[in-house]
Amino acid sequence: MAVRPDRGPTEPLIFVLFGPGGAGKGTVADRLVDLDPTLWLSRSWTSRPRREGEPGDAYVFVDRPTFMAHADAGGFFEWAEFLGNLYGTPIPDPPVGCDVLLEIDRQGAERVQELRADATLILLAPPSPEVQAERMRQRGDDEGHVARRVEEGQAELALGRPLASVEVVNDDLEVAVAEVASIVEGVRRRYPGPA
Ligand code: 5GP
Repeated sequence: MAVRPDRGPTEPLIFVLFGPGGAGKGTVADRLVDLDPTLWLSRSWTSRPRREGEPGDAYVFVDRPTFMAHADAGGFFEWAEFLGNLYGTPIPDPPVGCDVLLEIDRQGAERVQELRADATLILLAPPSPEVQAERMRQRGDDEGHVARRVEEGQAELALGRPLASVEVVNDDLEVAVAEVASIVEGVRRRYPGPA
């Protein structure tokens, strides 16, 4: 795992949870930060409209011009277009003493790796295409969209595997969360920042 050994006192570690839609990244990320107050979840921006029932703080929801103005001003660590919508990770600004958790797609993970070779890339995979499709339906994605994203998801997994430091299959939520938490702890033990 390529982790920078010269970590400074206020320099956070970066953990990237990436993988296809329906892998359960959002749920795993929320649970991880609930359990670990020193893990700070970066909130992405998107130009996608909020889905019905989706929490208002799932993203910073903005229109396209606002998104592009922020991108032009250098406000994003990385950003990408996905199925016609823009998504971006703002430059991370965690509280002192916290490490950063990014929940993004494979393109974003690739970009983060270019910018920070020391980031830990954790690929979260759904247990099967059927489970992946069902998770998308449950959160209200329309059927045509689901079929397309399941197909793309399989391709994303194949592209993601060579990038990933480690892969976690999200079959049982609590097991997956425990696995990711132990990966985080392992990296912290290897490269502790001064207390
Ligand atoms: P959704 O519209 O289903 O919330 O997200 C679509 C895809 O965009 C997901 O794979 C999600 O992980 C990805 N995504 C969310 N935030 C970001 C981000 O900040 N950067 C990038 N590159 N992808 C993101």
